[in-house]
Amino acid sequence: MSRRLLQFGSKFGTCNICGTDGPLTNDHTPPKGCVRPTVVQVKALIDAVALDANEKTVVARSSNGVKYRTICSDCNNRKLGGNYDKALIRFTNAVAEIVSSPLALPSTVSIEIEPQKVMRAVFGHIAAVGVNRYQKGPHTEYLRDWFSSGMGPLPGTWKLFCWLYPNRTQILARDWAALDIDSDLPREQRIFPMWFMKFFPLGFMFTMNQTPGLCLRGLAANAKGWVNLTELTDFGSLPPNSVATVNLSIRPAIHVEWPQKAAEGWIIAAHGSSSIQASEWVALLK
Ligand SMILES: [Zn+2]
Repeated sequence: MSRRLLQFGSKFGTCNICGTDGPLTNDHTPPKGCVRPTVVQVKALIDAVALDANEKTVVARSSNGVKYRTICSDCNNRKLGGNYDKALIRFTNAVAEIVSSPLALPSTVSIEIEPQKVMRAVFGHIAAVGVNRYQKGPHTEYLRDWFSSGMGPLPGTWKLFCWLYPNRTQILARDWAALDIDSDLPREQRIFPMWFMKFFPLGFMFTMNQTPGLCLRGLAANAKGWVNLTELTDFGSLPPNSVATVNLSIRPAIHVEWPQKAAEGWIIAAHGSSSIQASEWVALLK
């Protein structure tokens, strides 16, 4: 018997995004309007990117997503639903349309997105993970204002990456950490926290306190090499409604279980109370 996820705290509480006390609402991930891939679509894409994925991975249940009753109506319905999610839906659906095309895929595709809105949508949905989790360390108030205003960059120590994710399993995880075992840097500089969210056809990951020069790349599908990620934080200083062209690598593909699967030389681990939920969430959907 699977354990019940801790998704619903009390009906009143502190919003995980803005910190306001009041009634809490259900945040849905992925937001309604994102494409729900069929097995055939995912298989075709896996063939197109020459990804060696097993049958079990391909047919993993495409659930209705996950809900957390942890954010206020203003953050949920006005900021996310009324604004930022629309950009995230357009982005994921544009990628889904390109990769579902019967034409041969190039190794890289370019897509026009509204990066400031996409970044806030991704942040909002991962911030909603876990009951009573408004506190996010020293940048809590800065992140609240960054989300609410729609303007300006993330804290300098935060980065947001995305990559092609040709899989039906949905992952939503807050409070994980990566440790670079082989680096010569002091131990405290080799570990950084991360949040990630994956649903067809994209994966997103925030990293915090990544040491400059510690270049983060995605684990290749053959688990032997590394693939460049698309960094959305590069667009963090644009005005709120700006449109920018992002380049997304299609081939070589990134391992469908990255980043939760440890690569050689790295340890990836969950920590804290909501990470247990994240682990369960991963386990439940596999
Ligand atoms: Zn709020």
